[in-house]
Amino acid sequence: MAARELVPRIYLSPPHMEGEETELLRNALESNWVAPVGPHVDAFESEFSESVGSRHAVALNSGTAALHLALRVTGVGAGDQVIVPSLTFVASVNPIRYLGAEPVFVDSERASWNLDPDLLEETLHRRARAGRLPAAVVVVHLYGQVADLERIRTVCEEHGVPMIEDAAEALGARYDGRGPGTFGRAGIFSFNGNKIITTSGGGMLVTNDEQLAGRARKLATQARDPAPHYEHSELGYNYRLSNLLAAVGRVQLRVLDERVRARRANFRSYQERLADLPGLSFQPEAPWATHTRWLTCLLVKRDEFGAAPEEIRSALEAENIESRPVWKPMHLQPLYRGCERLGGKVCEDLFHRGLCLPSGSALTTADLDRVTDVVRAVHRP
Ligand SMILES: *Cc1c(COP(=O)(O)O)cnc(C)c1O
Repeated sequence: MAARELVPRIYLSPPHMEGEETELLRNALESNWVAPVGPHVDAFESEFSESVGSRHAVALNSGTAALHLALRVTGVGAGDQVIVPSLTFVASVNPIRYLGAEPVFVDSERASWNLDPDLLEETLHRRARAGRLPAAVVVVHLYGQVADLERIRTVCEEHGVPMIEDAAEALGARYDGRGPGTFGRAGIFSFNGNKIITTSGGGMLVTNDEQLAGRARKLATQARDPAPHYEHSELGYNYRLSNLLAAVGRVQLRVLDERVRARRANFRSYQERLADLPGLSFQPEAPWATHTRWLTCLLVKRDEFGAAPEEIRSALEAENIESRPVWKPMHLQPLYRGCERLGGKVCEDLFHRGLCLPSGSALTTADLDRVTDVVRAVHRP
């Protein structure tokens, strides 16, 4: 198989550098601002809030840290319950447990694959009557698709339950003229290597509430009280983003719109190239927002296509192409066994029939050919 090793690997969603990162990074190094404070952190925060349409932004060292802080400043604590979709990455849920709270998992709707607003309404009404409202609802915008925010926000407001948006996968999406993440009490983003823009690792918390942003900033720097010496009256974390990485983030942010266009173009190419194959469909684009297509996700009907998604995945892997199943629902994870949940059949079906195709913003026509040739070859009429 020596020849095969010469074929370059196609990754699911690799980092895509713009080119000017090196220059700004050198500038940051030479200025000696090599700390989790500095001019690039401040500039990245203001440019980011401008881009998504929030009043405040706090740059952090991961999306997970951002969600942890968002939950904490919202008041989530030990013994509380937090509603979260079952179909998501584990990082949407772990911070709930960091705080000693418990997740309650809610199924997805078919139209968007995101949190089912009917189930949410039903459970919030029922819990309000029983006096058992959750401390927060975490909405996730999966694979770049905004959840049904209108309905989710309305029912959360009706019951006075704070809504937090996990927009880690949806930077660059648009809803009602703004970015997702800006519609609840707080929103979070990730700049991990596989996200639409990256700082290698990093995250952002956004909010329109000045006090909340200030609280998050303080907690992210060991909760130091104002005093010339080191004075601490509450538990904090070391969660700030490095000034070096903020420099990378600033360059990446400038090309965000191009990156969204490239990902959407990948999606359209896949859709056109695979249109004639039976039993394949894609994550639908809900009518209320622009989907970034951070990842292009397929659904496979085995009877019609003639093969299961796992057969496609292993055939791609044999050609040195990375693809992944859709997120495994949290209610099926050993870590979260026994947690309360509402429904689950839809997200289980999406998991069993779903596959995420290579979706990087630097994919070439030749790459797309390689991927779709394998998918076509697996198809059995
Ligand atoms: C990537 C991701 C996160 C976590 O972000 P990190 O920066 O990797 O900590 C959270 N939620 C979702 C949905 C994600 O995809």
